[in-house]
Amino acid sequence: MKRLFGVVLLVYLSANAQEPKALPQADERYKADILVVVAHPDDEGAVTPYLARALDEHKRIAVVFGTHGSSGSNEVGAEQAAALGAVREIEARNALMTLGITNAWFLGGKDTASQNVLHSLANWDHGKCLERLVRLVRLTRPEVILTFLPGTFIGEDHGDHQAAGVLATESFDLAGDPAVFPEQVAGPMKRLEPLLENLRPWQPKKLYYFPDAEREDIFRGKGPAYSVKEISKLSKQPYWRMALDSFRAHQTQAKSYLDQIAQMDEAQIEKMATSKNGWGEDQHYVLGKSLVGGSVSGDIFESITPGAIAFGRPEVAPEPAKPELSVELAGPWSFYAEFRRAHGLTNLPHPEPPEIALQAPGTLVIPLWIRNRTAKTQEITLSAALPAGWIAQSGTWKFTVAAKQVAAARVEVDLPAPAENAAKKPEPQEVTVRAEANGQVIGEVKIRVELRKHALPQ
Ligand SMILES: [Zn+2]
Repeated sequence: MKRLFGVVLLVYLSANAQEPKALPQADERYKADILVVVAHPDDEGAVTPYLARALDEHKRIAVVFGTHGSSGSNEVGAEQAAALGAVREIEARNALMTLGITNAWFLGGKDTASQNVLHSLANWDHGKCLERLVRLVRLTRPEVILTFLPGTFIGEDHGDHQAAGVLATESFDLAGDPAVFPEQVAGPMKRLEPLLENLRPWQPKKLYYFPDAEREDIFRGKGPAYSVKEISKLSKQPYWRMALDSFRAHQTQAKSYLDQIAQMDEAQIEKMATSKNGWGEDQHYVLGKSLVGGSVSGDIFESITPGAIAFGRPEVAPEPAKPELSVELAGPWSFYAEFRRAHGLTNLPHPEPPEIALQAPGTLVIPLWIRNRTAKTQEITLSAALPAGWIAQSGTWKFTVAAKQVAAARVEVDLPAPAENAAKKPEPQEVTVRAEANGQVIGEVKIRVELRKHALPQ
């Protein structure tokens, strides 16, 4: 009896022995060559002329939108807020479908009307959106990520656009790391397995940006450029024309403009699109990083070969040396200095001195860090050199900063209305904030400010 029991147990054990088995393959329907990460439905219009070209080359494309665009305008109906977001999700999907792109997701961030990326990241719930985007990178396994250039410059410079670029950069550097959101990449386990996602880490190969800046001179030559006037093999139309047809889905945003186009014949459309309004302009990209080599201005897919590559942990540049007493621009500017360093983007072009376009009359806020690494309390005096008619309202006075302390200060400047009927475009003007201690200048912060009738809040 005892012997029989032993045999039964042996059979039972061997029947349950776990042979190592290969994991099921990833779902090929979601594999992307290009993952586009933008903020709002209709932002994809910034890259659709290039996407039309990539589709000609049989590239698979997926798109992620940061928000539903629920605070946009509605030129079609009464729907606003969340209802408008529901409408705009469909407009975005239809715009992509026109090109044949079906894989699109929304991170669920909330529209944030500001130029400050930190406001957008906070309002989007940065951590949640990052987790979702890392998941989508692991699901779509893109060769290339294409996104807004993260930085501040004169342009629309929407904080949400910048947030899309920040999240895409973070995801590029994190999705290949098995220690990041490990529940997404955990192998099969005996208990609570349905909670685990069974994705694998994925390291994208290249990261490209497109700037939301008005003056693009500092970005030229930093990546490839593509003509949009060539004829698509698939549609027999120029790439710009395919992009325009895709944009027709965004009725809530541009009904009056699209109605005008609907009245035009082909010759009129071509004249309109290729003269002033931008559809016919070359597409310029900025190389953020490549883990597979290739040249700066070479094709986006140069040096990319099929198959996974090893996780590339970004090299963090050392912290620049700072004097014992220093002043620096805080807010998004200091964030971006840290961001470029943390993600190995030290060659990413950014305006120097920093610049911003602001609505005037209004207020310019200059956030500052004042660092005192000395062993004694310091008295710091801030003063501002301003263009004529600009008035420092607060912050230009004496501060006491204790030993080994960092203080946050803020200089606020009243901005006059921009000149009426100015014959030419206003030039940005320079503002300098100077910090002094013990009769010596310890540092200066410069910023160039362009005054406009309309701009997003700072
Ligand atoms: Zn947008």
